[in-house]
Amino acid sequence: MHVTRRQFTRTSAAALASAAFAGPLTRRVLAQVASPVNWRRISDRARAIEGMGGNALIFAQGDDTLLIDTKIAVGGQLTRDYIQTGGYMVTQVINTHHHADHTGGNAWWKPDTPILAHELAVPRIRAQRDRYDDSLKRRDPNDSAPPIELFVPSDTTNGETELTIGDEKVILHHFGPGHTDNDIVVLIPGENLLHTGDLCFNKMHPFIDLDGGATTKGWLAAVEQCLKLCDERTIVVPGHGPVTNFRGLELQRDYFNALRETVARAVKEGRSREETYKLPIPGFEDYDSPRGQAMALSAAYIELTGKSD
Ligand SMILES: [Zn+2]
Repeated sequence: MHVTRRQFTRTSAAALASAAFAGPLTRRVLAQVASPVNWRRISDRARAIEGMGGNALIFAQGDDTLLIDTKIAVGGQLTRDYIQTGGYMVTQVINTHHHADHTGGNAWWKPDTPILAHELAVPRIRAQRDRYDDSLKRRDPNDSAPPIELFVPSDTTNGETELTIGDEKVILHHFGPGHTDNDIVVLIPGENLLHTGDLCFNKMHPFIDLDGGATTKGWLAAVEQCLKLCDERTIVVPGHGPVTNFRGLELQRDYFNALRETVARAVKEGRSREETYKLPIPGFEDYDSPRGQAMALSAAYIELTGKSD
């Protein structure tokens, strides 16, 4: 029987749903075999969900469950099924920023779950329906994204905000422009857990979205602020890459210092744009993706010189 990817995804979701009634081993095997998203237990009450976009996080306390970020659009339904099969009823969603690999599943939560994001994320989400559409069309050219209103957060903040999940305090911070102009980091003090959104790309070149309001200077300052929220035991969930601790943030800080110094020196030495984009970033030569490296160098070059491509 020929099975399209769409059917496969539905079948996978159905398999996962039935896994709710299976034993723990069956459930574990099914989850590994059938799904492109993967649970990672990071504490008693928290699970990271990896795959299909930025790292999402589930935090459950009492009758409440918080979901941070909703992955790419094509993973929206699947992730929702997956979370519910895991026995969680999500009562609050937070978007760490507007990018479509963190907000693409919003449409599958919005009808019955509040979604909170920075107010500056809203116009950017409204303007990126084509990104949600593209994600779905890659699986099925006949598919299309739900109405954009379903992706738009139901609630917004412009800075420091506190929520209660169960009886646990959840604190949102906005440290100004960094990865975008609408980054939110989420601290759960009782769990000593910090979700940084894309202010941390752990062990990979970061995506510096100048059009989305990014600045390497602001990003560096935001990482310093994140470090102040951490002690040696804090669990740090980055936007991309493996779950880490304060060292992942220190590495991100060191990366931006090295990147900015490399570009500043190149400009001072009168190197061309093309030469600059090929320079190694000292200490980070082992990071994969020459394209990611060139993109980071070019973003820093444009920021430091004020000369766009
Ligand atoms: Zn991002």
